[in-house]
Amino acid sequence: MRIDVVSIFPSYFDGLTLSLLGKARESGILDLRIHDLRDWTSDRHRTVDDTPYGGGAGMVMKPEPWALALDDLAAASERPTIVFPSPAGEVFHQTTAREFSGREHLIIGCGRYEGIDERVFEYAASLGEVRLVSLGDYVLNGGEVAAMAMIEAVGRLIPGVVGNPDSLVEESHEDGLLEYPSYTKPSTWRDRVVPDVLLSGNHGAIAAWRREQQLARTASRRPDLLND
Ligand code: SAM
Repeated sequence: MRIDVVSIFPSYFDGLTLSLLGKARESGILDLRIHDLRDWTSDRHRTVDDTPYGGGAGMVMKPEPWALALDDLAAASERPTIVFPSPAGEVFHQTTAREFSGREHLIIGCGRYEGIDERVFEYAASLGEVRLVSLGDYVLNGGEVAAMAMIEAVGRLIPGVVGNPDSLVEESHEDGLLEYPSYTKPSTWRDRVVPDVLLSGNHGAIAAWRREQQLARTASRRPDLLND
């Protein structure tokens, strides 16, 4: 899978050389390329923003560097999925991560300031499938942290990235519920004990207990998930 990221702060993504995604990049499972939007500017100051039409606080990202970047990057595949992190987009869920993990080519455009000139989204739709995607109902300074979260959630679903694929199936949100609690050794720690059932060796009883815990946890912490 190929992911191209465009940002005015490419070094935000340095951390993605580490751990499982770093290994996936080294082995070629994940072809992650980070680009500086300013490489598609042509003025001396490498300008990417300007004042908003209609007035208002803050600056808006100019359309032309984005169009040039998207022209170059979208040419690498048939019809890429072009993702723009945005607090005004659809909310990113595990189902979105699964969906994106099946794509051959993602391009992620990270906004800054007050965001990107709206016409860029229309233009991008002529090059690929456009998705405006929000990490949640709050405002970040830029799209980089949202892009990193999405890349990690998507990347770990690419076959071969996580060593034991079974560990992906049992996780929170995979079946619409939160995951059951996990414990490791020692069985007694600071007067707190591991539930007996987990030490019983009875796989049926353990599975039933875990399911009960998933339901109870979801009902208490995220009742909205049960109503969906
Ligand atoms: N003026 C915009 C609005 O109110 O919708 C917010 C702009 S925000 C300061 C700058 C950039 O951060 C956005 O273009 C987007 O790329 C990113 N961003 C901010 N919050 C986000 C969120 N919750 N999810 C995804 N991206 C976000």
